[in-house]
Amino acid sequence: MDQMDCVVIGAGVVGLAVARALALEGREVMLLEAANAIGTGTSSRNSEVIHAGIYYAPGSLKASLCVAGKQLLYGYCAERGLAHRRCGKLIVATSDAQAAELPGIIAKAAANGVHDLVLLTREQAQAMEPQLACVAAVYSPSTGIVDSHALMLSLQGDLENAGGAVAFNSPLAHARCAQDAITLVADDGTELAAATVVNAAGLQAPALAARFAGLDPACVPRAYYAKGNYFTLSGRSPFSRLIYPVPEPASHLAGLGVHLTIDLGGQAKFGPDVEWVDSPDDLLVDAARGDAFYAEVRKYWPGLADGALAPGYAGIRPKIQPPGAPASDFLIQGPQAHGVRGLVNLFGIESPGLTSSLAIARHVTGLLAS
Ligand SMILES: Cc1cc2nc3c(=O)[nH]c(=O)nc-3n(C[C@H](O)[C@H](O)[C@H](O)COP(=O)(O)OP(=O)(O)OC[C@H]3O[C@@H](n4cnc5c(N)ncnc54)[C@H](O)[C@@H]3O)c2cc1C
Repeated sequence: MDQMDCVVIGAGVVGLAVARALALEGREVMLLEAANAIGTGTSSRNSEVIHAGIYYAPGSLKASLCVAGKQLLYGYCAERGLAHRRCGKLIVATSDAQAAELPGIIAKAAANGVHDLVLLTREQAQAMEPQLACVAAVYSPSTGIVDSHALMLSLQGDLENAGGAVAFNSPLAHARCAQDAITLVADDGTELAAATVVNAAGLQAPALAARFAGLDPACVPRAYYAKGNYFTLSGRSPFSRLIYPVPEPASHLAGLGVHLTIDLGGQAKFGPDVEWVDSPDDLLVDAARGDAFYAEVRKYWPGLADGALAPGYAGIRPKIQPPGAPASDFLIQGPQAHGVRGLVNLFGIESPGLTSSLAIARHVTGLLAS
């Protein structure tokens, strides 16, 4: 049987960042990917937003890894010349009740170490974005956008330059955990022994961990899937910054509300909404959901013309809590949590996972070192 030092499962942005970090420590690393390319999963189906770290519970991994990841990501993009823009975002209140929530949003962000938010009057917000309808707003200057595929290619390049390798078309079927090594078994029956294994299989991470003999099943959360649909806007973007509604308490349980994001090519899109689905492969966008988008978007952009939205794409949030339950934190379990030497499982890596990817990688190498 072949032997490796480290095997990372899943070549999304998180698996790539973790594999790169391990390789940069001088370790021998193989990244196993079921598909024939990097980043074909959720990492290619998101808003590509570099989040500031505003909404997450203070003290949570989402809060700390988002804030740290944002700094690392801006630094990495600048150093490597990766396309990104610190365009800023406005969180817009469209009723007095929502306006009353803005100071709380600013206070929560400050508790997370985000101290640059600015409360704006309607006039100040409209001076920045003349087409915006709102009662008041909060401006986040450190929110931005990034070319996520360029980021992933760069991480892959670093991994390979440090001696690591990506094995495509290599779905892991199951594993056997023992004290001296973890034996990985591919779909075709090939076996590989590794001292360190990181499960970064995204939507499949819980199902895969459930097939690790020797791992306590009580450590594996149940997976739930919250699809987020996007609709694209024809024509020029009316805004130059990202526009987010104040999260409604109910919608905040699963997402941040139907917001406007712009990609680096200037294309505007609205989404993602929240549609709980049974399958992680249910990625078709139902055009009928567009009606609800018009209603939501016109609350802050009354100028949205009939027929301007077209179904775009969808991504699925890898949830570990059922519909209606409060949002879970990232669940990153190292040997201290489950008792299996050399194993780290990454569960529930939904947003802000892209922003946090470099900080998640640092966290994982820390868990393996301690
Ligand atoms: C709608 C939506 C919008 C989002 N917007 C943002 C945003 O704006 N900003 C932000 O920071 N985050 C955002 N996120 C979150 C972010 O996209 C994810 O946190 C991140 O992409 C997760 O990356 P990953 O590497 O963990 O998973 P994935 O990208 O899903 O990668 C997992 C990989 O594992 C592979 N795999 C699965 N099973 C196996 C197996 N058995 N063997 C081998 N390989 C396997 C898959 O093929 C896949 O390539 C958003 C998410 C969604 C759904």
